[in-house]
Amino acid sequence: MIGCLLALLIICYKAGEQLKAGILNGRETAGSVSGSGTLIVLDAGHGGIDVGKMGVNGAEEKEINLKISLKIKKLLTEDGISVVMTRSDNDRLGDTQKADLKERVRIMNEKHPVLAVSIHQNSYEGAEVRGPQVFYYTDSDAGRSAARILQEELNRIDPVYSREAKGNSSYYILKNAEVPVVIVECGFLSNVEEEELLISDEYQDTVAGAVSEGIKKYID
Ligand SMILES: [Zn+2]
Repeated sequence: MIGCLLALLIICYKAGEQLKAGILNGRETAGSVSGSGTLIVLDAGHGGIDVGKMGVNGAEEKEINLKISLKIKKLLTEDGISVVMTRSDNDRLGDTQKADLKERVRIMNEKHPVLAVSIHQNSYEGAEVRGPQVFYYTDSDAGRSAARILQEELNRIDPVYSREAKGNSSYYILKNAEVPVVIVECGFLSNVEEEELLISDEYQDTVAGAVSEGIKKYID
């Protein structure tokens, strides 16, 4: 009788272990399938003495760029997508703006990601202008396609301020990167309400969510 119970216990234990192994295994596979071999370069614009655009109430573009980029990185890596950041701290990548931009492009060309996403904040003389806008290199089909997908996701945040993805052939990064690249202008620091949103942790999460959704849709 005791022998029977013992045998039953051993069988149950082994079955449990097998089940546990199966679950763990399944989780591993599910986590690595979607993004395996996929690399994204995230480029937080400006840094160091180059603060970028200044908000009406003093917000600095470089800081918002980095915060949003780190949030996007977190969301992508959680989905098994590899991310290389051109900068992960406050410093810029060169002593001059030209050297800084050159280094960013060098990293993009060296890492050869499926997509490079440069994060910036906009500014305009008309204080009423607001809304996110994505730029791509005019002659790049892949860039245009990625920009349109990301723009669509960003327009969902507040459809009232929807904008259209726009081609550009003069921005240094767009012109010189040998991989598909987009510049995401998350919003206008020259608009009081949008500046207020862009410095808030919650809205940064929302923007990061939209950009990472767009990246995932582009990869698929
Ligand atoms: Zn900028």
